[in-house]
Amino acid sequence: MSSAGEAAPTPEPSDDASRGDAAISSFAALGLRPELVRALAGLGYEEPTPIQREAIGPVLAGRDLLGQAATGTGKTAAFALPILERLTHAGRGGDPMALVLVPTRELAMQVSEAVHRYGRDLGARVLPIYGGQPVGRQLGALKRGVDIVVATPGRALDHIARGTLKLDGLLLTVLDEADEMLDMGFADDIESILEGTPDGVQTVLFSATMPPRLNKLTRRYLADPVRIEIERETVAAGDAPRVRQTAYVVQRAHKPAALGRVLDVEAPAAALVFCRTRAEVDSLSETLNGRGYRAEALHGGLTQEQRDRVMARVRGGTSDLLVATDVAARGLDIDQLTHVINYDVPAAPDSYVHRIGRVGRAGREGIAITLAEPREHRQLKTIERVTKQKITMEKVPSVADLHARRLEATRAALHESLLEDELGRFRVVVETLTDEFDLMEVALAAVKLAHESRGGADDEEQDIPEAAVRPDWKTKDKSGPYGKPARGGPRRGPQGAVTRVFIGAGRATGIRPQDLVGAITGESRLGGKDIGAIQIADRFSLVELPADAADEVIAALRGSTIKGKKTTVRRERFGGK
Ligand code: AMP
Repeated sequence: MSSAGEAAPTPEPSDDASRGDAAISSFAALGLRPELVRALAGLGYEEPTPIQREAIGPVLAGRDLLGQAATGTGKTAAFALPILERLTHAGRGGDPMALVLVPTRELAMQVSEAVHRYGRDLGARVLPIYGGQPVGRQLGALKRGVDIVVATPGRALDHIARGTLKLDGLLLTVLDEADEMLDMGFADDIESILEGTPDGVQTVLFSATMPPRLNKLTRRYLADPVRIEIERETVAAGDAPRVRQTAYVVQRAHKPAALGRVLDVEAPAAALVFCRTRAEVDSLSETLNGRGYRAEALHGGLTQEQRDRVMARVRGGTSDLLVATDVAARGLDIDQLTHVINYDVPAAPDSYVHRIGRVGRAGREGIAITLAEPREHRQLKTIERVTKQKITMEKVPSVADLHARRLEATRAALHESLLEDELGRFRVVVETLTDEFDLMEVALAAVKLAHESRGGADDEEQDIPEAAVRPDWKTKDKSGPYGKPARGGPRRGPQGAVTRVFIGAGRATGIRPQDLVGAITGESRLGGKDIGAIQIADRFSLVELPADAADEVIAALRGSTIKGKKTTVRRERFGGK
């Protein structure tokens, strides 16, 4: 590596009290109070993401807002921080001062946890309410008093009808992932809820896409909104580096294993791994070192001296992996870098371009690999659109891929040895053994030993489960995600043994065959052609699936909701097949 650090950010002192100075100044500059700024520094956020930079000011100033941003952009903090800032001015009543509507139960929990973390020092009382959770627990909490409710529309409406969720004290309403809520059939519920909010309540809407069907909502409920899009800056085709871009979709829990697998298969000479926060940088480099990789951590919490030491180790080749935040990696010029790995999808297309620009220099081809969580695929699509470059979706290398790759490496090493090494002194060994064994067998044993001594033993690694691209039950996107035929394509039906699966929703819920096909292909590895006959009765539906995929589909559908409601999914009990 060469010339690290000339354009690096101003060095920061590293004693705990002043750790995060840069973060403090950049978040404080947005007008956030010290308790919030402290919580963010504690989480290891080094600077606001673009959507936060643009949205927080106007929302703090009381403006309605229409923001185009997908998961992964930092949009949650963009609305949560202004809500929490208001909390302190609003004082403590029993009724909520903010209502956040989200499409799914997963998102309700996720957003609620995030708000809770940001509001740690303010003692914010946050409550997620969603279908599927016992109403009793929600009732108790609502009665005791909450500041911020994060809810799916259906359950919010239930509580409003019961009189247990009161909207009179609302200062702010947020519609998060509005396009998804409409896709899931929540339009009427949302309107009913918004009709019940106080006149003039501040309303903020975030959506990954801005389809025309959102117009009615925005015209009616947003007053002169500030409009923010984070994908404006396009990159001229000539500026784009020559980089092979790949993404793997994996669940968060499998990311460390997936990264390890990718590193093993790619065997980068030198790689820069980007994380969003300092905390993530620290924990990932620890995990990697624990797994036998030589990784160094670099983030804004290091002193210049620590930073220099890290860079010396990287430059000296003691370390082949550098794990860094965007801020800390700014100004690094790393010559021998072959791979950039995004441990998370970057918050904006711009940062993606900056990150991958670290490789593919001087006419060499670089490799950029992104690990995306299922919900972040939209952010990837945005990046593709803005950069006008394709990001190929691939499966995380399997154990078999890894073994094949290791065997190939052993073969290549033997080939090189055959060409270059003086092997005469081993002849006697081979000749003695061939008295007893076939030459082929001798060769096989020698290859085995060579393979094992190169660390190529077939240890007990496990395959990393593939993650469905879209975890929500919805049907509108016809793009035919990664590798699977588009849903609208012809359906031929399962080829082998068939199982009929019972789904406890039918015509009465407005279910159509294409909804079921969409849900199944969205949740599992199956494509439309794998699905057989579909029968829709009033209260339930039956779907024919390949027998060996039935369990996977049942498990996946059980984890999702239909129009906001949990639904029974099981094998058909009295089926003829
Ligand atoms: P979201 O788009 O709101 O789902 O956020 C995506 C991820 O980015 C979450 O894991 C957040 O904790 C993280 N995040 C949000 N804002 C920042 C920031 N300013 N710096 C680093 N990470 C962030």
